[in-house]
Order: sequence, then structure tokens, then C-alpha cells
Amino acid sequence: MLKENAIRSLKTLLPKGQVFTDRASLISYEADGGLDKGMPEGVVFPHSTGDVVRIVQWAAERSVPLIARGAGTGLSGGAVADRGGIIVEFSRMNTILDIDEHGRTAMVEPAVINLVLDEQVKTKGLYFPPDPASQRASTIGGNVAENSGGPHCFKYGVTTNYVIGMDVVLADGRSVRVGGRALDYPAYDLCGLITGSEGMLALITSICVRLVRNPPAVKTMLAVFDSVEQAGIAVSAIIATGLVPATMEMMDQKIIRIVEEFAHAGLPTEAQAILIIEVDGYPASLDLQIEEVASILQMHGGRSLRVARSAEERNQIWFARKSAAGAVTRLTPSYYTVDITVPRSRLTETLLEVNAVCERYGLRVGYVFHAGDGNLHPLVLIPDTQDRQLMERVHNAGREMVELAVHKGGSLSGEHGVGIAKRQFMSLMYTDAELAAMWDIKQVFDPNNLLNPGKVFPLPGSGNMTGEEITAVQGTLNGTLPPVPGNIFPPSTAEEAAEGILSAAKARQNVYITGSTGVPAAHSGAKVLSTAGLRGIKIYAADDLYITVGAGTPLAEIQSFLANERKQVPLATPWQEATIGGLVATNLNAP
Ligand SMILES: Cc1cc2nc3c(=O)[nH]c(=O)nc-3n(C[C@H](O)[C@H](O)[C@H](O)COP(=O)(O)OP(=O)(O)OC[C@H]3O[C@@H](n4cnc5c(N)ncnc54)[C@H](O)[C@@H]3O)c2cc1C
Repeated sequence: MLKENAIRSLKTLLPKGQVFTDRASLISYEADGGLDKGMPEGVVFPHSTGDVVRIVQWAAERSVPLIARGAGTGLSGGAVADRGGIIVEFSRMNTILDIDEHGRTAMVEPAVINLVLDEQVKTKGLYFPPDPASQRASTIGGNVAENSGGPHCFKYGVTTNYVIGMDVVLADGRSVRVGGRALDYPAYDLCGLITGSEGMLALITSICVRLVRNPPAVKTMLAVFDSVEQAGIAVSAIIATGLVPATMEMMDQKIIRIVEEFAHAGLPTEAQAILIIEVDGYPASLDLQIEEVASILQMHGGRSLRVARSAEERNQIWFARKSAAGAVTRLTPSYYTVDITVPRSRLTETLLEVNAVCERYGLRVGYVFHAGDGNLHPLVLIPDTQDRQLMERVHNAGREMVELAVHKGGSLSGEHGVGIAKRQFMSLMYTDAELAAMWDIKQVFDPNNLLNPGKVFPLPGSGNMTGEEITAVQGTLNGTLPPVPGNIFPPSTAEEAAEGILSAAKARQNVYITGSTGVPAAHSGAKVLSTAGLRGIKIYAADDLYITVGAGTPLAEIQSFLANERKQVPLATPWQEATIGGLVATNLNAP
């Protein structure tokens, strides 16, 4: 609880109109787009990086938590002050600072609205692909903090693939730049680390994004299916063929009808499910792309294929798709958006199982989601959030859906983040050691746990280790250790590698890691860990388009394996023997 004199000093920190502590103002900041709530003790509106630095220094001196907030459209409670503290509301830092047309980058303040940026750059023939369905409201800062996805991320990649630099204020008040306007810096990729960190590592005060050329032409197609499962099978079939249309979005009949009544986009309300598939590229290529996709859809039950005839028709379709959640609130005052991802070959079985879960809990659910990414969003309708018994059923069903996604090799969140909503599920997916590695990073950036505390990591009493408990366990890592391995050490498993590194660390020996292109000039007495024993293809998931390989596998070996499958990984190196581990560690650029 903030003391009277702390509140007084906060009010003098920034000019009038930038600090609010009265209950009537605070109540608007009690929630984001999700179901979790928490009342902040104050809300501040910085206008500049200088303001943010002052706020952070003020908070650090008094150990007051700071919770960054963009538009508050987050669906996992990320911007909710469930431990009190001050909301840092970035909405007044909303200027597009500049657009470099030739270098194809833009520098923006964090509260620039996603769609505003995209519309601006489009006037210059450029395009900012990450397009969350919330793009009419959500901010680039929020998108970066959540590493947001969207319909076009299937082809173009998610937010992190477009963030190349940031100005951030660290928890001790230092203002630093990470990355910049070029594409590859020799430093640690802190920009990649902060992207998706949910406001827990730093406050972002400007962002440099990469832009691409606006595709010269686009075609948008609607395909009707007789069931959601059938549509899921068609999506998996397209993925397995290796085709990458710009989008593959799915809606079921319940959502189609709700949305059509609101958006009047001419959606086929008799369809049990539809797919919205878009292709882009040179005008002459579009018909071929559409034909190829259409033939697969038809083979799997797709019918009444309709290609939008004008930009207006296309815009109407997208307006409808991106209005789904808003349209639902015409029916019930609240809803719970589940956000899970499964390998795309398992879409159909997951849909059936999710349906069964909702039926068992007696919940009304509609589906609208990024099918191409295997990212499901069952939208559970909530007529009354005060109905405790209903809310318990909603949460239990949510947990079961997360569990089944994780068991299928998927993820507990596809794009909405962990925040408060999913923190208790983290240990379903991560081991204590993995959570500890994440907590280490939090500690380095924010040792006093002031930036968005309590998010992402499980809470005490949940059966999982909390951040504090992890630190305690790490302090006791002693005991009997395996002997320090000989000078060149070639582990054949990850566990052997871990043991070797731990032994060397305890003996205070330097460790150098080498792939196959040469043994580094190590200090005398240092250990050299060769990845040569970690070689080979572990998993080849043809239907999901991924491959898992040992770190010591030469790229050439991977490419020759894939060539037999008529696939490739778009990496290149001049060295025949260069291993994938080495390429990743050096982030090697090639043509
Ligand atoms: C109808 C609807 C549809 C949606 N569709 C999608 C979708 O398709 N894809 C998707 O990925 N998400 C979607 N979302 C979720 C949400 O819109 C995204 O997570 C979005 O990126 C949040 O942006 P925001 O500006 O509202 O951030 P907020 O909700 O205000 O904050 C989100 C997180 O970012 C942190 N944060 C915000 N600004 C900063 C900053 N400057 N520095 C550091 N941390 C910061 C906050 O602390 C919080 O943890 C949807 C939400 C709604 C309501």
C-alpha cells in the first residue's frame, strides 16, 4: 500500500494530468481484455523516455511495482496490477517517429496503434505484417511485449520477426538501446529476449520495426465446409503439401452467424465452418496459387469456393473476421478466449476433443482462429461473470484444453501470453530447470522484481516452484559431481553435456564449445566441448513442416536428408562441415 508521502511525491514527479491516484480513475485500469482483475495504486502517463526514467527511479527507491500498459487489449492479465503498484500507461507516447522508405524500417513510440502504423507505411508501398485481430486498438508496444501473432503471421512470421531495435528503460532507471536499424548486430540479441517478455524485463519507449514491400496483388477466398473437423483436415493437408498461403483462418457456424449479423460481409451462414484463405504475390501468380489451394480444399470437402472480387469485398471479409470478439459481446457481456497451439497435423483431433470438453462442462463455445498456425481460440460465452459455479466450469474447461494441447506436443499459449491467466500452467510445459533458466534472466534484468511482478511464473502453493524458491534451490547446487571430463569432451547426449559443463563450472574451468569447423584456441587447462557426438536427425515431422536435429549435425547432412523429401531449410554456409549448432550460435547470415 502506497504511503501518503509516496503519493505526494509521485504527483510532483510529472506535470499535472499525468498522474492519477483517485479511485474513479483507477477503476478503468482494474482489468485488461481477460478475466483477471487487480486494482492499481496509481496510473502515470509518461510523455517521453525521460518521464519513464523518472518514474522507474522513483519506483526503484520505494520498491513499488510498475506495470506497463498499452491499450489493455491483452487477454492474459499481463497489464493487470494484481499486486498493486503503478500502471505506466503509454497511450500518450504514440508518435510514428520516422519511416525509412529505402531501408524499409520505421521507428515508433510504443503506443502507436498497430493498424495506424500499417496504414501509414502502406501509403509508401510498404507493409507491417503482424496483424493481431485486435489491431484496430492494440499498440506496437503491447504487440512486442506479447510477441503477438495474427492471420498473416502464418506466411510472414510473428512480431519478433519484425523487431530489430528498441529503446528501453531498465529496472534501475538506465535507458539503453538494444539492436537498431541494421539487421544483425554483433551483441547478444537482447531485442529478441525482450520481445515477448510481457513487461517483466524492461519498459519499452521506442521500437524500430522492419517493413516489407506491400505485396503487389492479393486474392482472398472463402471456402465452405460441412464440419469444423473437415476444415481442419483441409488445413493440415495444405500444410503437409508445403504450400504457404498468406492466411488460413477458420470460423465455425456459431461465430459466422454472430459476426454476419454484425458485419454484413456476406458470410455463408449455412456453412458449418469456413476458411478464409488469402494468397499474395505478383498478379500473374495469384490464379495459379488459388488453383493449387482450391484443388486441395475440394479434395477434402471444401465447396462453394468464392474469391473476393474487389478490395471492398476483401476488406469486408477481414472486418468481419477481426470483429468476431466484439460481435460476440452483443450476445453475452463476457467471453473467455482460450489460446492454445497444437502441431498442425493434430488440428482435427484437437477440435473434437475441445468440443467434448466444452460439452462436458455445459459451455457454449464458438471457434475463430489462426488455423494455419495450429493456434486454436475456442471462444467460451459467459452470460454472467458473477455466476461462480459457471466461472469454475469455465476455468476447469480452460485448464483441460491447455493440458490436452501440451500433451499433443503443442503450447499452453499461441500468442496471448502467460500473464496471470496461464502462470499456473507453466510447469505443464517446462521443467524446474527450464523455469529456473527463465528466472535467472528475470533476476539479471530486475533483481528486485519490480517490473510486472508475479506474472508468468507460478505462484506459491501451486505445487510448482516460485521464482524465489528457484533461487533458493540454485544456491544449494553442490553435492557430488561427476569428474571433470578430459580436454576434448564429446558428449553424446544433452544430459552428458550438462554434467560436463557443471563439473567444469565447479572446477572453475573455462569451457569452449566447438562444432566441426575447428577446435578454438582455448586457454591452457580449459575444456573443449565438441558437439560431434550430438549428430543426427531426431524428428522429421513432414506434416508439420519441422525437423529436430542434434546440434553437431552438419547443415549439408540436413539438406541432403530434406532434398530426398523435396524440402529444404533456407540456410546456407560456405563450409561443408559447418554444424547447425555453430550456425545458430553465430547467427550466420548467408545469401
Ligand atoms: C478482440 C481481441 C482480439 C485479439 N486478437 C489477437 C490476435 O489475433 N493475436 C494476438 O497475438 N493477440 C490478440 N489479442 C490479444 C492482445 O490484443 C495482444 O496481446 C496485444 O498485443 C496487446 O496489446 P496492448 O497494447 O493492448 O497491450 P496491453 O494489454 O496493454 O499489455 C500487454 C502486455 O504488454 C506489456 N506492455 C505494454 N506496453 C509495454 C511497454 N511499452 N513496455 C513493456 N511492456 C509493455 C504489458 O505489461 C502487458 O504485459 C486480441 C485481443 C482482443 C481483445
